[in-house]
Amino acid sequence: MLRTSRSLTTAQLRGLVQDLNTERARLERRLALEDFDLKEIAVGVHTEIAARRDTLVAALERIADGSYGVCERCQQDIPLGRLTVMPEATHCAVCPTLAKNGSVAVPATNLVIH
Ligand SMILES: [Zn+2]
Repeated sequence: MLRTSRSLTTAQLRGLVQDLNTERARLERRLALEDFDLKEIAVGVHTEIAARRDTLVAALERIADGSYGVCERCQQDIPLGRLTVMPEATHCAVCPTLAKNGSVAVPATNLVIH
C-alpha cells in the first residue's frame, strides 16, 4: 500500500513538474512576445516624438531667420488658421494639393492678370 501510494505520488509529482514546465514555457513565450511588442511600441513612440521635435525645432529656426509662416513652395503667407492648427506647417494648404496633382504652384506675386 505504501509502495503504491509512493508510486502514485511520484507519478503525480512528475506530472505536476511536467505541467509546470509546460506552463513556464508558455509564459516565457508569451512574455517574450509582450516584451517585443512593448519595445516596438516604445521605438515607435520615440520615433514619433523625435520627428515632432525636429519639425518644431525647424519651426523655431524659421521664426529666428524670419521665414516662419511663408510657404516654402509658393512663397505666400501661410494662413494664420493653418499655423494655429499646424504650427510646424511649411506649406500653404494649396501647394501640397497641387504637388499631389502634379501641378506647379505659381506665387500670386508672379501672376500677371490681363
Ligand atoms: Zn504655397
